[in-house]
Amino acid sequence: MKILVTGAGGFIGHHLVKALKKEGHWVRGVDIKEPEFEPTAADEFELLDLRRFDCALQATRAVDRVFHLAANMGGIGFIENFKGVIVRDNTMINIHTIEAARINGVKRFLFTSSACIYPGYKQKEADVTPLKESDAYPADAEDGYGWEKLYMERTCRHYREDFGLDTRIVRFHNIFGPLGTYDGGREKAPAAMCRKIALVEDGGEIEVWGDGKQTRSFCYIDDCVEGLMRLMDSDFHDPLNLGQDRMVTIDELAYMVAAIAGKKIRLRHELNRPLGVRGRNSDNSLLRQVLKWEPQISLEEGLRVTYEWIRGELIKTGRLKA
Ligand code: NAD
Repeated sequence: MKILVTGAGGFIGHHLVKALKKEGHWVRGVDIKEPEFEPTAADEFELLDLRRFDCALQATRAVDRVFHLAANMGGIGFIENFKGVIVRDNTMINIHTIEAARINGVKRFLFTSSACIYPGYKQKEADVTPLKESDAYPADAEDGYGWEKLYMERTCRHYREDFGLDTRIVRFHNIFGPLGTYDGGREKAPAAMCRKIALVEDGGEIEVWGDGKQTRSFCYIDDCVEGLMRLMDSDFHDPLNLGQDRMVTIDELAYMVAAIAGKKIRLRHELNRPLGVRGRNSDNSLLRQVLKWEPQISLEEGLRVTYEWIRGELIKTGRLKA
């Protein structure tokens, strides 16, 4: 099949291109930047800004399927501080890409949404009830980023119902792994934790945002890519969670990474940092039912690979001695 991956210069997009190539597809990657850490595996890689409609038309030409991952996004520090930029850029990227896909006769279009679309009122306790897909409404999404994702979910539905574009919608819950951003302000908690712990001396102190009791679930990249390909091949067009359903506190996450690193650490809690919701977990009942599968890789195993990769990068860039 001929497949377009938008956001192919990014973390998940780059891994997805590799997996699609392994399955024997022809792949075009599109992004405003090349992958940061290794060359793309795509047959064709085009640097295009999908905020522009002419670029979206070029990107979506002559392909059967589109995995639409391109977005201006980052960890909680980024999405809480750049709402205007996020809403402006992603609204333009999304509307241009789906409309161009429709015009170019794309058969199937998968949109990557987020657990950030779930209502704040369901995520006020650390010991939160796992979120089912139907919990999205009545809506009270994460301000900025979450509302924009929810709006695009609705857009996919209207394009399917009114224009016959066959759409898929996935809601990711904290994806992590090697070849992801680990520094610079856009990184997420697992990568930030790995970097901080790799750089700190044994017995030293690292900064943790909040009181460390906030909870999340984390899903390893290989499971994410497997789930994405299964969903694309399925006949399911409503939104579907894709994540792990094992919830840990941020402090537990830090101690897990420290154990992998073989270091004793102390945590310094910074309360005045962006935090997001108090607790969040994925209910995977529908995922299991629809895909006949669920994420397989344990948090410990995923963190081990991620930690070793980030440590290797820090050594390579001269920030850490081997
Ligand atoms: P990422 O930032 O690594 O990848 C997104 C890519 O989109 C980047 O390479 C970026 O350069 C590209 N992009 C930004 N603006 C663009 C533009 N105008 N034109 C073309 N490309 C542009 O992020 P990721 O973690 O790989 O996430 C992929 C998708 O999954 C995003 O839509 C994101 O919102 C969604 N998502 C990710 C997570 C997660 O935990 N990583 C969670 C929920 C949702």
